Amino acid sequence: MELAWAAIGLAAGAAIGAALRGTVFRLSVSAGDPPRTSCPCCVGPVPRWLALRCRCCRSRLGTPLVLELATGAVLALLLGRFGVQPDMVAFCYLGAVGVSLAAIDISVHRLPDALTLPAYPVLIVLLALAALTGHHAGALVRSLAGCVVLAAAYLVLGLLRPGQLGGGDIKLAGLAGLALGWLGWPVLLAGAALGFVLSAVVSLGLLAARRITLRSQICFGPFLLGGALLAALAIG
Ligand SMILES: [Zn+2]
Repeated sequence: MELAWAAIGLAAGAAIGAALRGTVFRLSVSAGDPPRTSCPCCVGPVPRWLALRCRCCRSRLGTPLVLELATGAVLALLLGRFGVQPDMVAFCYLGAVGVSLAAIDISVHRLPDALTLPAYPVLIVLLALAALTGHHAGALVRSLAGCVVLAAAYLVLGLLRPGQLGGGDIKLAGLAGLALGWLGWPVLLAGAALGFVLSAVVSLGLLAARRITLRSQICFGPFLLGGALLAALAIG
């Protein structure tokens, strides 16, 4: 663990989480609804960036600090584990977008295209730059293959169990596949499996605590991302 880089990751992640707060607020809407642009209290306009409080009535927009601390923790873990390498820009980018996606999925059970789709070209360009600077052409090819394989696996699972996995999960699986494929096939396999293990463990816990029933649908995005992060940190 490189503590200095972990501290830098924590600080940078907290700042990035604060910057993404406006995006998370705007996109935390039900499927088909337009992005939220006004404060729920006074209907004043919500700033696009650094939307911590409404500028009109000063009410808080979302739970304070959660997004900042979660993004900071993810970037601290990634930079602390891997240090500074060309591919860390791509991984930190996916880490920050992933925390925002998980936050939206937990609050409204959606993984909006407005975040997942633009992340594909950005992540591919960042990984291609890392491949060029680090002479990792093989890793880039494996990354693209990992994207196709994981998205296809989720598509099949979604078709087999309709209602359990949605289109957003399939698109997110492709993004996770890009990152996990870059790190290697064993990491991709472990990341995919860990997502389901985490989901099962948490679901059993919530069932035992009577917080959900067997008919409840729980969001899968945070588990998919959590499994990918755990696999990357443990064996990446
Ligand atoms: Zn307001």
